[in-house]
Amino acid sequence: MGMNLSWKSDLQSAYKNSADLFQFLGWEPSSLLVETKYPLFVPQNLARKIKLQGKDGVLAREFLPDNHELNEAGMNDPIGDKEHYKAPQLIHRYHSRALFTPTSICPVHCRYCFRKNELNATDEIFSPDFEKTLEYLRIHPEISEIIFTGGDPLTLSNEKIEKYLTAFSTIKSIQDIRFHTRYPVILPSRLDDGLQQLLQSFSKKFRTISLAIHANHADEFDQESMGKIKELSKLDIQLLSQTVLLKNVNDNQQALLELINLFISLKVRPYYLHHPDQVKGGMHFYLSLEEGRTLYAKLRSHLPGWALPQYVIDIPGGPGKVGAFNPETITFSGKLLGRDGEKVSVQEPDLFSL
Ligand code: SF4
Repeated sequence: MGMNLSWKSDLQSAYKNSADLFQFLGWEPSSLLVETKYPLFVPQNLARKIKLQGKDGVLAREFLPDNHELNEAGMNDPIGDKEHYKAPQLIHRYHSRALFTPTSICPVHCRYCFRKNELNATDEIFSPDFEKTLEYLRIHPEISEIIFTGGDPLTLSNEKIEKYLTAFSTIKSIQDIRFHTRYPVILPSRLDDGLQQLLQSFSKKFRTISLAIHANHADEFDQESMGKIKELSKLDIQLLSQTVLLKNVNDNQQALLELINLFISLKVRPYYLHHPDQVKGGMHFYLSLEEGRTLYAKLRSHLPGWALPQYVIDIPGGPGKVGAFNPETITFSGKLLGRDGEKVSVQEPDLFSL
């Protein structure tokens, strides 16, 4: 029993307030806030990496509170997911796939998070209404893929993941399962033997099981995370990458190429490069679509097609995700065309009153 609990105790011992964290770091939180209205959550192993990298490092920027968070610009819910809930934990926005959100807890609080105005560090939602999710899926056989997201779905215990996968495997139309997770780089102890065995055993019950690994910079990785990802690569599952483009974190060609090459060497297929969302409290990570497209054009010339992640943007207000670098779907005037061809405004940050 003890072994499987180690990642849980790593979560329990995480830093949850700035004063303790800065005391550990030994840094004066001069330009950084000791208390911010946004919750802080940094596991100890990550705190050690932040300290090692230093105050000006990428990790400090991604995970430590910053007084730019007081800026009121941006939106509370930039994605507009909520309108698409079809059951208490199920978002059905695209024809063939549905997002399943069984928990709101993550192994870290990324300061740029698009859900930062909604995340709750203490509460795991385990809905008594799971039956409603199953009912919806049974009468919507067009849904072939379930995407576990959250929060971070690997916060669920192995037992709960097993319970959900077993239930989904009874619905014939569900063929593919995908988990979006930050655990492999943030808290690799989560990828314990039990979870690996579970994924392996369910790989025979679904057409594909994918793990989309969220990482934004090569500096997030250490020996432990790389070792665990290599273990995962031996299972019969697909490993995909998911990266958010972030100002002063990875908005340069060298950082992105280094990260993508690292993914490839770990047998993780580059999958998504997200344009940042215009989230309130996270606008200091925002860069314009034109800047993002310029960078992506450089990646295109350096990487073969199979190594190039899809550059995507969630249109503010809820219409959904579209390609961010597709001359057919984006006009140069900063307007996006929605799926059905209607024009949707992209609000750039300077449109907000600061
Ligand atoms: S892991 Fe994802 S959902 Fe969780 S805080 Fe980070 S960006 Fe947000």
